[in-house]
Amino acid sequence: MTPSAPPWLLAEVRRARRGEGRERVEATQRVVTALGLSTVCESARCPNRGECFSVRTATFLILGEVCTRGCAFCAVAHGRPAPPAEDEPERLARAVAELGLDHVVVTSVTRDDLPTGGADHFARVVAALRRNCSGVKVELLVPDFAGSDEALTTLVAARPDVLAHNLETVPRLYPKVRQGADYERSLGLLRRAKELDRRLPTKSGLMLGLGETAEEVEAALTDLAGVRCDLLTLGQYLAPSPFHAPVERYVEPEEFSSWREKAKELGFRSVAAAALVRSSYKAPLFFEALE
Ligand code: SF4
Repeated sequence: MTPSAPPWLLAEVRRARRGEGRERVEATQRVVTALGLSTVCESARCPNRGECFSVRTATFLILGEVCTRGCAFCAVAHGRPAPPAEDEPERLARAVAELGLDHVVVTSVTRDDLPTGGADHFARVVAALRRNCSGVKVELLVPDFAGSDEALTTLVAARPDVLAHNLETVPRLYPKVRQGADYERSLGLLRRAKELDRRLPTKSGLMLGLGETAEEVEAALTDLAGVRCDLLTLGQYLAPSPFHAPVERYVEPEEFSSWREKAKELGFRSVAAAALVRSSYKAPLFFEALE
């Protein structure tokens, strides 16, 4: 039976949903909508969107809102996506300029239907941001590109400031919640990114509460440390609907603290671990810890 969420977590979710007021949230939404853009904050029903939007941050979702995979934890729609919009990179750069962002996170749905999984589109986004938004830090949160080395080489050559790819969960749970993905392939992407550019900061994250054991989490963190992953996020999995993978367990704040300590011992340069931490949550602050 799915456990009930503890009161402290429900209070946190309410606070994050509210953010700092409806007006500020709507101001960010207006910029995104006016430019015909999407955010993973909305598509994935992130609990933090009120908090993030009210401080004018958002994670842009490129390459459409339809994913070619159907992970059991994810609220993004899946099916057959439309071709990439050629003018999306310029529109995204305009949004970043209008919002006055100095750090932007860009992610995408998985596009197994495209020759390089959309890596060239990511590269065009980085180029548009460099042209139009002087000094902006660009963090790319990428899918696995079906293991394509060509795709990864294109991305690294685009010179993002951070390259993120989430393991999401432990290898045993991949067939259950991350069909179509492969744990070793995801780990290999992070390893290869460092081989291509050893100065490029890499980032990854796991959701806790999907049924993983403590030993499995520690093994995954050790694997990430082994590929010299710099930044780590750990958060509580929250089921987006009753049709998604159920929450198996709610992780107490003390347990997140002990994972943070463990990850630091393993050599991660910066770690965020708390129930509502998501890959892009407070990304600029997290990045500053590297400088
Ligand atoms: S945590 Fe990330 S995905 Fe969630 S609302 Fe904030 S920026 Fe968007």
